[in-house]
Amino acid sequence: MLRTHTCGELNLAHVNEDVVLCGWVQRIRDKGGMIWLDLRDRYGLTQLLFEEGKTPSEVLQAARTLGREFVIEAKGKVIERVAKNDKIQTGSIEIRITGITILNPAKLPPFLIEDETDGGDDIRMKYRYLDLRRNTVREKLQLRHQVARHTRAYLDDLNFIEVETPVLIKSTPEGARDFVVPSRMNPGEFYALPQSPQTFKQLLMVAGFDRYYQIVKCFRDEDLRADRQPEFTQIDCEMSFVTQEDILNTFEGLIRNLFRKVKGIELPEVPRMTYADAMRLYGSDKPDIRFDMKFTELKGEDQDLTSGSNFGVFDEAELVVGVCAPGCATYTRKQMDELTDWVKRPQIGAKGLIYVRYNADGSIKSSVDKFYSEEILRTWAEAFDAKPGDLLLILSGQADKARKQLNEVRLEMGSRLGFRNPDVYHVLWVLDFPLLEYGEAEDRWFAMHHPFTSPKPEDIPLLATDLGKVRANAYDMVINGVEVGGGSVRIFERDLQQQMFGILGFSPEEAQEQFGFLMNAFEFGAPPHAGIAFGFDRLCSLFGGVDSIRDFIAFPKNNSGRDVMIDSPSIISDGQLKELSIRVENRV
Ligand code: ASP
Repeated sequence: MLRTHTCGELNLAHVNEDVVLCGWVQRIRDKGGMIWLDLRDRYGLTQLLFEEGKTPSEVLQAARTLGREFVIEAKGKVIERVAKNDKIQTGSIEIRITGITILNPAKLPPFLIEDETDGGDDIRMKYRYLDLRRNTVREKLQLRHQVARHTRAYLDDLNFIEVETPVLIKSTPEGARDFVVPSRMNPGEFYALPQSPQTFKQLLMVAGFDRYYQIVKCFRDEDLRADRQPEFTQIDCEMSFVTQEDILNTFEGLIRNLFRKVKGIELPEVPRMTYADAMRLYGSDKPDIRFDMKFTELKGEDQDLTSGSNFGVFDEAELVVGVCAPGCATYTRKQMDELTDWVKRPQIGAKGLIYVRYNADGSIKSSVDKFYSEEILRTWAEAFDAKPGDLLLILSGQADKARKQLNEVRLEMGSRLGFRNPDVYHVLWVLDFPLLEYGEAEDRWFAMHHPFTSPKPEDIPLLATDLGKVRANAYDMVINGVEVGGGSVRIFERDLQQQMFGILGFSPEEAQEQFGFLMNAFEFGAPPHAGIAFGFDRLCSLFGGVDSIRDFIAFPKNNSGRDVMIDSPSIISDGQLKELSIRVENRV
């Protein structure tokens, strides 16, 4: 090897040793008689010292030709530093240099390769390999590696085996949009890239593999957001001869183990909540339970504390529901106006926001004083279990909409009140999802998870009578309001799977054509099985306390799905197109 040590490991124990280091020039300070140079590699920084009189003059001269990001090999002796720097690992020593070799000079980088950089998003993505030299970025990929390593170790110990499934598969009409790949050898035909290895992992269970996992790339051609990438990674798992309870325990164990090994955090027991409760109490199937502020219904199925006062808005509403923001009664008129404008933004879409101040002195004032007496407002405060000093924020309207909007209000207030600390982790299982949801626009039923999810056995009769009421043995893991994983107990009998496709609007022929391979397999001794997949990038970003998953992917795509570094997607030549039997009209 060219080097004897890395730039992160030398300390006082090495004083007087002759060493050779290799790395990138981070910074040079030329003080005339002395030159200090910070040499960087993946492991850290080491200070190199060139000194007039003590360093050979040709070496000193060579040092003066160096620039930022030159790659050099430096030879010298470890000495104790006079002015120590306890901020870096190697801060008690420096290297008195006796020789340097420039391994490769470097052009001036387009942005500062330091923790605080002057480079904007676009330029850093174009030169991602330079961005990756920065500690803050590299550390995120190291964290990713740790999460992967401990995931493999945990699952290996439980007898899971990693099996690779194909990347060129078949387009199917369910789920998100597919990325497709033309087949040269089969003119006019296309492969699709997998949105997940779902059917393959089920076939591995039919094959008797019993416990499978794969840390695997998946592809979905969806519109992008900060937490989405067209290609992303899942920890994909499947088990045979298990119940839902076994899956929950096994994968709660995985997450617990990851928190312990990667973050040094012992998680408390993971609570469980039904989908119905999550929607009723938080207006979301992925509630952030780092803080309370559960919904209280002033007018709903159980009670009505609002009628008889001629307040049309509430009288007409299906649901009047609110949250209690602790200690916020002191919000000024201006703050309330601002919050009201916030809920009226099209992204939230509420018509207005009613508030009740339960002042610290015990008095109560609301924005609906014209309609409701203090006595009634007190019954509201009681229903909310509010304390003097609290503020009630209330929305009304059609039930689903009001709940969705209130979820946004709750999260916003939670953030403003500092209840959403990224270093605090609350993990939750959400269970008993509906099997199906109705698509108004398409006028048909869709599988809420996917078509291979089993209805709860006790709800199977409802398949014939009330599709909206059928619950699935499906579960999501939610951490701090982010869905990090989801899965289900699977259908493993041909007849039930066939019935399910029928409900989703497939004719028997269509079902056979699209999914015949799976239904046929179910006739050859399919074991009961269940599984789950975790969003690996998202899990890493949570561990890193950052919202964007992009930071945890070595070479991510931008918001338009482009890789600006390699400039992809790109057009291909007429020759290639011809070979693929593709004709492009209006080629640009
Ligand atoms: N394949 C599913 C998904 O990608 C997860 C599962 O059901 O195991 O969401």
